[in-house]
Amino acid sequence: MQRKTADKQKSVRAESSQFTEQRLRMVRGQLSARGIHDPQVLAAMNRVPREAFVDPMFADEAYDDNPLPIPNGQTVSQPFTVAFMAQALQLTGTERVLEIGTGSGYGAAVLSCLSAEVHTIERIAALAQQAKDRLSRLGFSNVHVHVANGNQGLPDHAPFDAIVVTAGATELPAPYVEQLADGGRIVIPIGELPTSQTMYRFTRSGSKTKTESFGRFAFVPLIGEHGWPEV
Ligand code: SAM
Repeated sequence: MQRKTADKQKSVRAESSQFTEQRLRMVRGQLSARGIHDPQVLAAMNRVPREAFVDPMFADEAYDDNPLPIPNGQTVSQPFTVAFMAQALQLTGTERVLEIGTGSGYGAAVLSCLSAEVHTIERIAALAQQAKDRLSRLGFSNVHVHVANGNQGLPDHAPFDAIVVTAGATELPAPYVEQLADGGRIVIPIGELPTSQTMYRFTRSGSKTKTESFGRFAFVPLIGEHGWPEV
């Protein structure tokens, strides 16, 4: 009996050290090597257990250079994309962040390590509940999950220092600009096709907004008035 428990503990330790090694390889091979240089972002990506945000059948693929399926036909983004967007937000640890598209909760967990408070909105209630349970079990206590249509942002909790959109929009939603603090950043993929977008960063400075673009990405569509109709 004691032997069995010891064997089990050994295999749990072996499993978690397997993920620890895979995570570090991901940080070095997929992130540092490809232009993710913010040490806090690299540390966050090395801290959040991506395997805990996917179905156990995909746990062995958690640190591959790919998006992975989550329930309801959605995806958890590729690690590089999550890190790229987090870096583009230029967080210092003190910010209030709004994420549109909670999905698995993985991106929110990464943002949780990089900011003071994260509000994340998901339109699919079952995904939101699963993410909420997971984030709380893993101790990401500064994340608040909301079930809502993210097209209108979250006016009751505005202003935000940073807003990140993890689904492809057709335009920059005006409510996000209205809910952004002065000096704040919005990182959002926008495109003419539901599956292909250009990544943009909008930085608010008083009544002006600076626009920068960062190349092509592929996201699931943002559903609603600033995105695409549900099919
Ligand atoms: N950040 C997520 C993660 O780490 O798993 C990845 C999100 S997935 C690429 C995009 C998510 O946006 C999906 O879960 C989808 O249901 C959600 N979404 C799409 N349109 C939305 C809307 N109008 N409001 C809120 N969530 C939306």
